[in-house]
Amino acid sequence: EQRFPNQPEYIQAVSQVLGTIEEEYNKHPEFDRANLIERLCIPDRIIQFRVNWVDDKGNVQTNMGYRIQHNNAIGPYKGGLRFHASVNVSILKFLAFEQTFKNSLTTLPMGGAKGGSDFSPRGKSNAEVMRFCQAFMRELWNYIGPDCDVPAGDIGVGGREVGYMFGQYKALTHQFVGILTGKGQEFGGSLIRPEATGYGNVYFLQDMLATKGIDLKGKKVLVSGAGNVAQYTMEKLLQLGATPMTCSDSDGYIYDPDGIDEKKLAYIMELKNIERGRIKEYVEEYPTAKYVAGAKPWGEKADIATPCATQNEIDGEAAKTLVANGVIAVSEGANMPSTPEAVKVFQDSKILYCPGKASNAGGVAVSGLEMTQNSERLKWSREEVDEKLHSIMNSIHAECVKYGTEADGYVNYVKGANVAGFLKVAKAMMAQGIV
Ligand code: NDP
Repeated sequence: EQRFPNQPEYIQAVSQVLGTIEEEYNKHPEFDRANLIERLCIPDRIIQFRVNWVDDKGNVQTNMGYRIQHNNAIGPYKGGLRFHASVNVSILKFLAFEQTFKNSLTTLPMGGAKGGSDFSPRGKSNAEVMRFCQAFMRELWNYIGPDCDVPAGDIGVGGREVGYMFGQYKALTHQFVGILTGKGQEFGGSLIRPEATGYGNVYFLQDMLATKGIDLKGKKVLVSGAGNVAQYTMEKLLQLGATPMTCSDSDGYIYDPDGIDEKKLAYIMELKNIERGRIKEYVEEYPTAKYVAGAKPWGEKADIATPCATQNEIDGEAAKTLVANGVIAVSEGANMPSTPEAVKVFQDSKILYCPGKASNAGGVAVSGLEMTQNSERLKWSREEVDEKLHSIMNSIHAECVKYGTEADGYVNYVKGANVAGFLKVAKAMMAQGIV
């Protein structure tokens, strides 16, 4: 905290991990001699640059751009790019740190990184988004490469933005290589990548419920967010017989007492992905639903909650409300959506609770599979990728149970995910010497 003041999200993420790996760490005095904690917590490097781009009125705009290369002990740096007005070094450092453990859990050879900009695509024209993406890649291209660092999408960076950045990288280098994941199907993208984080989140939720012999079918689910992760979480919930009751954006949430069915989800996808509208428009289309401005959906009654928007969106009070309302499981689609106080409430009440670094790892797992397909110059079928995704989520769940089961049988998924993720990276760092 003394070394990195004013970086609360980063300190929050590091504290949570250190608090859970201590027991395992103390079993290995060689880790301490190698100063592994500092070497693992402080990113390898931070690349920071200015991005100049021209808006539709001909004015020059300036944003900040970043790439945090956190750790490459087990594979090339890998992690998304976030374009959102709130982006700063603290948020990207927390995300890159978490990514290192998450990628370790996937069983695939990927290190951890994160990047992005304080540019917000919201309200920008297509041409402005393209010019920004090109300007951003003009600065970033020299620091990334298919065997060095392979960025992907995150908040504000979807298929459109990845496409523009890929095009610019290709123009600058004359190389057609798998430099980004989440690419379009026509130029090296993997089937199931858009769906992967949401589908993986629900596969993981199913595994958690199975430890208690509970079926997902018939359950009512509170979802936050209405972007990539939220949409495909809802799609998989519906496929498995559960009912999403809510979704949201940064202005407010909608609650549909009849549930969000396939037709309504198709409307949301069109609204958010094509028209780039706001979630409040849902109630104009479906008037039996309600829209609550400036609030989050955690006060509504349901069986399960899955936050899929952003960090710290469930605080201690919201967590208490969820538990009081009878929620039996919380599965995180977003990164660090629960505050430390909220996590404590979930764990003290012994409900099923899993941190995003395990339950949302499906996205980067399929990004890893996209890299494999690019290297092989092959494309796998939808079924093949989905099957691999499902089996990776099963194995992440098994690792959490292995390292997180407490004396009374309660599975502490936070501890399980952190210890499993940590051990692999730590052993790789030890084997590679002091670099
Ligand atoms: P999108 O940009 O597609 O969607 C983000 C959603 O969250 C939007 O509905 C957005 O609303 C809302 N949101 C964003 N910021 C805030 C905020 N500060 N307060 C309230 N709502 C907010 O992003 P993704 O779905 O890709 O990402 C969602 C979460 O999942 C993030 O935490 C991300 O790190 C995590 N994640 C994503 C992965 C992926 O594969 N995409 C992989 C693993 C984790 P609005 O439209 O108003 O901005």
